[in-house]
Amino acid sequence: MPRTVVIAGAGHGAGQVVASLKQHKFDGRIVLVGEEPYLPYQRPPLSKKYLAGEMPPERLYFKPESFYDDDNIEILLETRIEGIDRQSHAISTAGGNSIRYDKLVLATGSRVRNLPVPGADLAGIHYLRSIGDVEAIRSDLAKAKHIVIVGAGYIGLEVAAVCRQMGLEVTVIEMAGRVMSRVVSEQVSNFFEKLHTRHGVDIRLSTGLAAFEGDGKLTHVVTASDERIAADLAVVGVGIVPNTELAQNAGLAVNDGIVVDDQCRTDDADIYAIGDCTWHPNSIYDRYLRLESVHNALEQAKTAAANICGIETHYAQVPWFWSDQYDIKLQIAGLSQGFDTAVLRGDPASASFACFYLRDGILVAVDAINSPREFMQSKALIANRARIATDVLADPDVLLRDLA
Ligand code: FAD
Repeated sequence: MPRTVVIAGAGHGAGQVVASLKQHKFDGRIVLVGEEPYLPYQRPPLSKKYLAGEMPPERLYFKPESFYDDDNIEILLETRIEGIDRQSHAISTAGGNSIRYDKLVLATGSRVRNLPVPGADLAGIHYLRSIGDVEAIRSDLAKAKHIVIVGAGYIGLEVAAVCRQMGLEVTVIEMAGRVMSRVVSEQVSNFFEKLHTRHGVDIRLSTGLAAFEGDGKLTHVVTASDERIAADLAVVGVGIVPNTELAQNAGLAVNDGIVVDDQCRTDDADIYAIGDCTWHPNSIYDRYLRLESVHNALEQAKTAAANICGIETHYAQVPWFWSDQYDIKLQIAGLSQGFDTAVLRGDPASASFACFYLRDGILVAVDAINSPREFMQSKALIANRARIATDVLADPDVLLRDLA
């Protein structure tokens, strides 16, 4: 076994690397280096219960502090890694320290995509990625009446739901012609658009952002068609960028993420990468992917840790995600991109239905709305590339479990 494992980044995936190394009885030195001031924590509640004030901060943490009270684990927070010297097997930090590794795990995640429009520096404009971001949003929310959300992806719509439930006026502007267009089909987009409209959110589709306006502090959001929408606060959720610079500067292969194989190894045998920052193969879809999901970060972390400990492990997972908006839970298994047939099971008007996606007759994904059974039971069918007749999928009386 290697003597020292250094983990670059102290996010969700990094926490799981530590947990899995401990589980495999790794007895060398583990050094966790993260630029944020927090121990590894879960980001999903940041746009849901934590933003709503319904979750205490201690429940955000992946593991309690006592979990890391192990002589072998060293944690360096508020420490940014600036470079990797592959020759001497060492990372260098912004503070000028150098730390040697036998195996390095890059778990650097992603950062928000910024919108470089006029007025972007005004007070009252927020992005949402970290605990610190939520604290800043909450402090402004306490004084706000009207919030504009830029981008109708998962995060934007989750924030919209929380703000409506706080009684704020909410406008969402979205450049695409439908909400969550990157991840769900038209049927499911329509359901969520109606859901938000029913809750009083003003959704403006096919609407670009031109500028933010205000005198030091945001007062209006200006759309590409020159409309001015009053706003005390704006939250921008227009996607993320993988943190690949460390890998790239070290000469590792990078595509839309750090390139790894199905054992989470980069093209340097002593450097692994996991989570949001990776460009990795998926054998079920027979292509490379970059995923922004907790499940992927945790599973890649387990894969990397096992391989570091000499237990050969290959990553082969059906991707899955979820989103909570009002009393609706959306669960997505698989990837629907490129589907040729969509099949509804149940009635969207009942707020409990599933939309299955097939490609060449093979089930590739499901969007399950308040339908946990369809979500759970579809995973095995997707993994097995099952061929299922559309009338069978549409029939709520057929248990998918019996088809697996
Ligand atoms: P991260 O958790 O982002 O951790 C990476 C860490 O590395 C960060 O702390 C970063 O600051 C640090 N870092 C980067 N570069 C350096 C460096 N050079 N030196 C030191 N440290 C560095 N996923 C779901 O599946 N379901 C959801 O409902 C969901 N909701 C979400 C809601 C929000 C608001 C957000 C922001 C994300 C959500 N996600 C959700 C996505 C999910 O949180 C991510 O996919 C997951 O956190 C990825 O884990 P990671 O370990 O790859 O990266």
